Amino acid sequence: MTQEALQKVKASHLKRNAYLYVRQSTLRQVFENTESTQRQYALRQRAVALGWPLDRVVIIDTDLGQSGASAADREGFQRLVTEVSLGRAGIVLGLEVSRLARNSMDWHRLLEICALADTLILDEDGVYDPAHFNDRLLLGLKGTMSEAELHVLRARLQGGIRNKARRGELFVRPPMGFVYNSDAKLVMDPDQQVQQSVRLLFETFRRTGSAMATVKYFTERALQFPRHLHTGPKKGDVVWAGLEHSRVLRILHNPRYAGAFVYGRTHARKTVDGACVIEDVPRDEWEVLIRGAHTGYIGWDEYEQNQRRLRDNRQAYGEDRRKSPPREGPALLQGLLICGRCGKRMTVRYHSRRGRMVPDYVCQREGIEHAEPICQHIPGAAIDEEIGNILIEAVTPVAIEVALAVQQELQYRLDEADRLRQQQVERARYDAELARRRYIRVDPDHRLVADSLEADWNDKLRLLAEAQEACEHQRAQDRKTIDDQQRKAILSLATSFPQLWRDPSTPDRERKRMVRLLLEDVTVIRADHLTLHIRFKGGAHRTIQLPLPKRSWEQKQTKQEVVAAIDQLLGDHTYQEIAAILNIQGLRSGEGKPFTARIVARIQRSYELQSRYDRLRKAGMLTAQEMAQMLGVHPQRINIWKRHGLIRGHAYNDKNDCLYEHPGENPPRKAQGVKLSKRVAAGVVITQGMKEVQYEA
Ligand SMILES: [Zn+2]
Repeated sequence: MTQEALQKVKASHLKRNAYLYVRQSTLRQVFENTESTQRQYALRQRAVALGWPLDRVVIIDTDLGQSGASAADREGFQRLVTEVSLGRAGIVLGLEVSRLARNSMDWHRLLEICALADTLILDEDGVYDPAHFNDRLLLGLKGTMSEAELHVLRARLQGGIRNKARRGELFVRPPMGFVYNSDAKLVMDPDQQVQQSVRLLFETFRRTGSAMATVKYFTERALQFPRHLHTGPKKGDVVWAGLEHSRVLRILHNPRYAGAFVYGRTHARKTVDGACVIEDVPRDEWEVLIRGAHTGYIGWDEYEQNQRRLRDNRQAYGEDRRKSPPREGPALLQGLLICGRCGKRMTVRYHSRRGRMVPDYVCQREGIEHAEPICQHIPGAAIDEEIGNILIEAVTPVAIEVALAVQQELQYRLDEADRLRQQQVERARYDAELARRRYIRVDPDHRLVADSLEADWNDKLRLLAEAQEACEHQRAQDRKTIDDQQRKAILSLATSFPQLWRDPSTPDRERKRMVRLLLEDVTVIRADHLTLHIRFKGGAHRTIQLPLPKRSWEQKQTKQEVVAAIDQLLGDHTYQEIAAILNIQGLRSGEGKPFTARIVARIQRSYELQSRYDRLRKAGMLTAQEMAQMLGVHPQRINIWKRHGLIRGHAYNDKNDCLYEHPGENPPRKAQGVKLSKRVAAGVVITQGMKEVQYEA
């Protein structure tokens, strides 16, 4: 250890811990490059040599096997930064500075923090104090060099890959149905079953024109599709499993099935939070596209045609939407509703009911994937309404609380200003007092001085009065602002939310924004009833249950009591009469219309109520024909007799067709020459010939 190095280490450093940061980029390096790992651990001895006790050397090796391109996913590096910034680190040890951070930005940040926290840095070459300009310069240079080295390495690697790709010779993992032969040429898989399956997929799509229908075809016939295992101990094996929608799409979109070699179809991009997103690159920006590079399952023309078909189909299918931004359309929970059965986000479908857009929430992602029935389908109107009510109920007290907190804050600030103004008044009073004392102390004979001091005193007194007045005035003003405006604001806050919510002119999009401000998500399960788990922003949650919304035919159903009433009325009345009676009682049909004979008849038929005709027949009533036969007269006469009250008939329909009560022991008989009106009523018998009237006992 050089003298210079020892000089840099001070007692203040030794009081704190030494941190040894050990890292290897890949797991492979961890196993193969044990030399380097050992060298890294050996640095511990250097720390001991500098004066740190062995038990104070903390080893951070959680990042072993992590790629160092960014600090975001390196837990160990972050811990190191934390320890340094908390001032717990006296020195940081690393084999090379490039091992500490492979990204120049992370490195400079660490340097800055080390300089602030007075932490030393040690690598194989020596000890550095980042607070010293020369050391910092050197460390910065080392970091830059290491990043440049990484860049050059990568560029060389990429350049080689690109060159190979341009010639179409780059090895790219063969898609299902292809293999590389011994000449490194891509050929069709010699496994006939695999080949046939791929061919069948393309054929089915050719026939049906839809990826969904292709999946359905395979599922219905229980046909399996081959798939490569890309990870695990059985890597490279082919397994057979059900065909999925996404797999069909991937195969149809892959130009290699059309015999083309492509490179640069996708592009990997880092996001702000360190995640990696793979994006599709538009066709005209593909780096390499060599048609006819090998034999394909389909021709290039068919490939192009398939792409067009898929593009046209796309509009018709839903896609699994992440928490999507609020769009037009009234579905309040668009993007917020989660299926309680499978955990996927539910999508919205609209349908029109009586000219209004009505949302349905559907969980269909899995269904599309495997061509199965959809998971859950829930009419949205009732849910949306309930959520609206809950928000109105939940928001009011919160709004008041916020408003009150704001008011308190404002009051506090006004008090502060008031205190400042008070101090100003005090100062003016002090100045005036000083001027008074000066004036009193002066020799009255010294006229000139006394006059000017008196004028000064007067001046100060005037200023004092002014300051006092200004202070009082401002205070009154402040009180007024608080009293009137603030109270109004509080009241309006408490009431404006429900108002705004219910206002029909509030756009759906705004209403959805309000929901998003207040709710995290809603999970729904459909069973005997709907169960909603609502998560509010900030962690509160609530569970509610709703009855299942009625289906549209159920909504139009006639009420049970109306059916019962009709059943009862049928004993004594015709359809028309029943309709009139129900309307007088203020009852309405299932569709909300007044009753007519036709509606009553329909209800009687659909609920299989016994018809009036059957009821009368059951009660032993006779038809006109039967009556006529029994009494030996023409059927028309029966009607005439009924009209004149000789026999009793009951209408069984609105055309006044009747059934007749049995005439009893003494039925009316033909009595020519006797006026019908004279024959009075049924049960009255006119004896022919004698023309005498006999009354029944
Ligand atoms: Zn589901």
